[in-house]
Amino acid sequence: MYNKLSDKAVEFIDHQEILDTIKWADENKDNYELINSLIERSEDCKGLSHREALLLLTCDNKELIEKMFAVAKRIKQRFYGNRIVMFAPLYLSNYCINGCVYCPYHGKNKTIARKKLTQEEIVAEVTALQDMGHKRLALEAGEHPTLNPIEYILESIKTIYSIKHKNGAIRRVNVNIAATTVENYRKLKEAGIGTYILFQETYHKEDYEKLHPTGPKSDYAYHTEAMDRAMQGGIDDVGIGVLFGLERYRYDFTGLLMHAEHLEAKYGCGPHTISVPRLCPADDIDTADFDNTISDEIFQHIVAVLRIAVPYTGMIISTRESKACREKVLDLGVSQISGGSRTSVGGYTTEERHDETSQFDVSDRRSLGEVIDWLLDLGYIPSFCTACYRAGRTGDRFMSLVKTGQIANCCHPNALMTLKEYAEDYATPEVRQKIYKLIDAEIEKVPNPAIRKRAIENLKQIEAGERDFRF
Ligand code: SAM
Repeated sequence: MYNKLSDKAVEFIDHQEILDTIKWADENKDNYELINSLIERSEDCKGLSHREALLLLTCDNKELIEKMFAVAKRIKQRFYGNRIVMFAPLYLSNYCINGCVYCPYHGKNKTIARKKLTQEEIVAEVTALQDMGHKRLALEAGEHPTLNPIEYILESIKTIYSIKHKNGAIRRVNVNIAATTVENYRKLKEAGIGTYILFQETYHKEDYEKLHPTGPKSDYAYHTEAMDRAMQGGIDDVGIGVLFGLERYRYDFTGLLMHAEHLEAKYGCGPHTISVPRLCPADDIDTADFDNTISDEIFQHIVAVLRIAVPYTGMIISTRESKACREKVLDLGVSQISGGSRTSVGGYTTEERHDETSQFDVSDRRSLGEVIDWLLDLGYIPSFCTACYRAGRTGDRFMSLVKTGQIANCCHPNALMTLKEYAEDYATPEVRQKIYKLIDAEIEKVPNPAIRKRAIENLKQIEAGERDFRF
């Protein structure tokens, strides 16, 4: 039953094509003329094929890498401006029946404390997140058919959307749960989720099977075809990613782009986001047991080439990465970051950090307020915008907004209006002044005069206590 679509996974993640691509990139890695021409061509923001992108990633010429970084920055500026979308993960339950060898939730781990939030605890956790200023959450859960069934996830989403908070509701719930059926994806869509996120971990089938020896996740085809089923269930915003450190990075980088190409070709819309998690130490997980961990330099190179290869796709980075690393990759292409995150179940409502239930060790431990202040000092606009999916601009409708450049008339004023809400409801007087100054300068950059005028009006109304404006 699981393998109903399995031939397709083998087709769109073609192992031989990945090996051939790596060989071709190795053969051409000193062909600076070709590499230069690809870098120059990518300025047209039309993206690159997996072959072309891997060649850029394989190139180790420092000057050319700097050139790639410069193009990546320009592409990012063109589509995303200086906006950075903010979110926080919410861990619902760490009960899991899978055997993933890199994840501390694996079923055989006897040292991790297991916990599943009740609906009352979810209200408390979400209220704590709202007290910080969050509007967008990513739900996380282990896979457990009886303890975390789809009904539990759906009930939790309903609970979250219904929580009344003095500063307004959670406006977007993204979901990162195990691969499931078309029927369940349909239910998630009906529950009003934003993006469905699922990391492939690795596209290398043989190694995937070794890394996932037991449990439903051990079925490579079922996992790899999850996004096809999500699309068939009506979810058109999907987020893909690999866990860098598990497999040779060039293999997974190529697989990731082939997956994006498949979604674009088959459903007319590539992934909404790509996440770039790196393996971290965790309860009973020692990164020294893994041979394929990557350096910061390679990590930055990956982010820059992804930005060039898929210009319209949002890129997400979590608090697995340090402040310094996040600063660098924000510049190269990342468009969404988490802030003030706890990766433990119930972590937002406990005074002390209680890490005994957590999924991985967080590197960036700053509060959301500190992250916002840091982003402002770096010249970014922290955005709490959730407008697109609420206005039905998902899938190809969102993509066409980006492709036609209309994003500047939409996302830019939305970012400023949601940041203004943050200034009024959460910021210290000093940070509030920084935000006001930034908004004054940035509002002038909204291209359409009528939208600019309305946005200025809305900003005044936000100061007067009104909330939740959007374009
Ligand atoms: N249970 C779901 C699944 O297996 O896909 C989704 C939730 S899981 C909490 C989210 C992601 O955390 C996994 O997809 C994996 O990539 C990542 N992860 C697991 N162990 C990790 C580790 N030691 N370091 C960093 N990330 C890890």
